[in-house]
Amino acid sequence: MLERGEVANSWRRERWDSLRLLTPNWQSRLPGYRYEGADPDGFMTMREVIEFVSGFAVAAGAPVRTHTPVTSVTQTDEGYLVATPNGDLRCRSVVLASGACNLANVPLLRHAVPASIASFTALDYRNPDQLPGGGVLIVGASATGVQLADEVCRSGRRVTLSVGEHVRLPRTYRGRDILWWMETSGVWNQRYDEIDDLTRARSLPSPQLAGTPERATLDLNTLGARGVEIVGRLSAVRDGRALFSGGLRNQFALADLKMERLLDTFDDWARSHSRDADVGPPERFEPSRVPAASRLDLDLGSGEIRSIIWATGFRPDYSWLDVPVIDRKGHLRHDGGVVDAPGLYAIGLPVLRRRKSTFIHGAEDDARDLIDHLARYLAGTPHHRVARRL
Ligand SMILES: Cc1cc2nc3c(=O)[nH]c(=O)nc-3n(C[C@H](O)[C@H](O)[C@H](O)COP(=O)(O)OP(=O)(O)OC[C@H]3O[C@@H](n4cnc5c(N)ncnc54)[C@H](O)[C@@H]3O)c2cc1C
Repeated sequence: MLERGEVANSWRRERWDSLRLLTPNWQSRLPGYRYEGADPDGFMTMREVIEFVSGFAVAAGAPVRTHTPVTSVTQTDEGYLVATPNGDLRCRSVVLASGACNLANVPLLRHAVPASIASFTALDYRNPDQLPGGGVLIVGASATGVQLADEVCRSGRRVTLSVGEHVRLPRTYRGRDILWWMETSGVWNQRYDEIDDLTRARSLPSPQLAGTPERATLDLNTLGARGVEIVGRLSAVRDGRALFSGGLRNQFALADLKMERLLDTFDDWARSHSRDADVGPPERFEPSRVPAASRLDLDLGSGEIRSIIWATGFRPDYSWLDVPVIDRKGHLRHDGGVVDAPGLYAIGLPVLRRRKSTFIHGAEDDARDLIDHLARYLAGTPHHRVARRL
């Protein structure tokens, strides 16, 4: 296992200071290893996640070579040549476990933003003290965007939140965590080959959820009530003005409808599995409040906004992968993690083999399936060249 930094590197280096997992402690599970603390319904801080992942690496005896960045992977007659500054490695098979969130997915219109505006992404934002004084525009209202809007607003700054397509979820439903419902009802276990529109499922925004000690819902109604200005999707930056789409009403209606449908699914599941007695009565939530008049443009030169945080998603970095397995849209070509090149595998990508694939607890089932395939692949390929030590 080659790691460019340290074990749990992304949690050590690429997350903001106040972040907690949005998955509850009881859901933090890796093969043969789980959260054993006194607060199963709580949410880990970054320090706790680093301890958890590092603890697993020790318990599993994972053969990790830290501070070993892979700079290229090329195909050879026998398999792959993996280059690192510490030496090369020849191997018959490679598993790409380099993460789904290496780069911030910032739209090209960022180039039209005046240079006077400071620009941050979720990978370089740490806390509100880092931002210049004045208003903050946060683009994107999924898990990252709503969490940062909340934090920056609480720090006393004026926040404008640009909202596009989003997934609205309450933190708890009928007395249980919403992720308890996702897991227990089987929604998160749905396999990739059972999903009608897999491309769409793989590009869905993360849900508007935050892990806080209060287990509070963090949706647009909460943020609006707290004073965050909600505007539509950032559609262009022209002549120093940010232009927002006028489609907020539709976006809100769609997100509310999808949430209602999901809650209906949970209700049906509870009824058909005789679980109604284990949970509270069905609940329905206030529809998303559409702002009376959301503004359609903002003068970025007026001094009202001094910084932008791009909370517009993440993507993997395969710049070091010199194997022709990336499609025109920059996505890895794979079937459930079996990449379109012999002996090449991937794990940890959105809906890789199941809806839960991109979460910590999703790794175990995917790994089991892929290891099965990998073992069969290795059994069927010549053994004269095995992985050589660095
Ligand atoms: C802001 C944010 C919040 C999240 N919150 C949650 C949550 O609450 N619960 C949850 O279950 N999941 C959450 N996730 C998803 C989370 O990232 C995954 O669950 C988990 O980290 C995936 O583990 P991984 O090992 O696949 O990827 P990563 O944790 O990204 O690990 C990939 C590793 O590969 C290394 N690497 C990359 N490129 C190279 C290279 N060229 N050479 C050598 N090493 C390399 C990196 O340094 C890194 O250590 C969150 C993700 C983000 C971005």
